[in-house]
Amino acid sequence: MSSSMATQDIAADRIKGSQESVWVEFIQLAIDYKPLNLGQGFPDFAAPRHVCTALSEATLNDDNVLLNQYTRGFGHPRLVNALSKLYSQLLGRDLNAQKEVLVTVGAYEALFCTFMSLINPGDEVIIIEPFFDCYEPMTRLAGGKPVFIPLRPQPITDRPLSSKDWLLDAKELESKFSPKTKLIVVNTPNNPLGKIYTKDELQMIGNLCKKYNTIAVMDEVYEWISYKGEQHLRMASLPDMWDRTITIGSAGKTFSVTGWKLGWAYGPEHLLQPLRMVHQNSVYTCATPIQEAVAAGFELELQRFGKPESYWQELPDMLEPKRNRMAKFLSSVSMNPTVPEGGYFMIADFSKLADKLDLSSETGTRDYKFARWLSKNKKLQGIPTSAFYSEEHKHLAENLIRFCFIKKDETLEKAEQIINDLKTSLK
Ligand code: PMP
Ligand code: GLN
Repeated sequence: MSSSMATQDIAADRIKGSQESVWVEFIQLAIDYKPLNLGQGFPDFAAPRHVCTALSEATLNDDNVLLNQYTRGFGHPRLVNALSKLYSQLLGRDLNAQKEVLVTVGAYEALFCTFMSLINPGDEVIIIEPFFDCYEPMTRLAGGKPVFIPLRPQPITDRPLSSKDWLLDAKELESKFSPKTKLIVVNTPNNPLGKIYTKDELQMIGNLCKKYNTIAVMDEVYEWISYKGEQHLRMASLPDMWDRTITIGSAGKTFSVTGWKLGWAYGPEHLLQPLRMVHQNSVYTCATPIQEAVAAGFELELQRFGKPESYWQELPDMLEPKRNRMAKFLSSVSMNPTVPEGGYFMIADFSKLADKLDLSSETGTRDYKFARWLSKNKKLQGIPTSAFYSEEHKHLAENLIRFCFIKKDETLEKAEQIINDLKTSLK
């Protein structure tokens, strides 16, 4: 093809206007400046031994060399059986492993299949802000119209802000529904806020789905990470919601193996069938040994379920002191955090701190300036939170930065040191 052709002439209309995501820039910044990385969400410690051993055994299994070859396209049999067993128990209904579970390349692909297979041009998709950033471009790629509604923090002065204090206004939410509303996307526990939706909130959303004939797309990738006193609830388990809910999960978050990029969607056959068609005609089949290892992981966790040795007990127990520590050191430098109820991210309001800094070397909205400045000059990386908001509402996040705390204690110790140095330099 002639090199004189410009990208804008070559690109299909559906991709025109798409921009590189926040991850492209911040992962490059991390490579170039080598900051202490509390940006993109991933653990910097070893994944649970049992799933790693299962992966190496799957690839070296002389009795079943076929584990290194293609497997069933909609999901490796051992894995869909394990997933259906787990979610059947959790939802109190029998899931059909063949028809009601689809295995994908990460939760990302499950989201992509959902948007591409259910949205017609002109359909509306309600997206609650802050949202995991790919929902918006995926909706647009499918020809849909995103309709945004922000969670709003309540004015709390006598204690640190909690993700519980970020609320949806029920009337405002209903005003976003229309006869064109095909989907509403709900992420619980939420990234970047850590909010876990209560039963009342889920019921309120579910009732609107019934009233407006809308499908609930539940991104529940952090389903196993909720802190003491909090409980993750599944929309699909609420009365009359199974038939109109697609739920998405991720092995990356479930077993702390984000690099394995394995996810799934589950829901009633009539909703999953379209997703299966997009999956079949794009990815077709996911890596066999990874599915085998994740299946073995689930089988063990099913045996340990509810017991102290359960990884889903161990993980939030291990993360909670890290969360508390981060909240403390951020507060000490006037970066006011929202303490998350779940997940492994924390957002903090840096406005009081930034008033004392010269950020003029950087471009963009204030949160981008601050995050870029912090990565380059203080060697600490966080993610600018306006990346999780629509254009019209980015101003709501101009003073917010997101940090990831699924890190070794020594990493958090170094982060604390950087924050302390910053505090001293401002005196
Ligand atoms: N949804 C949310 C809320 C996430 O934080 C992530 C993490 N990237 C994903 C989906 C995608 O997960 P995966 O890495 O399994 O594709
Ligand atoms: N979910 C992770 C985060 O929010 C990873 C994002 C990504 O790689 N796109 O940091």
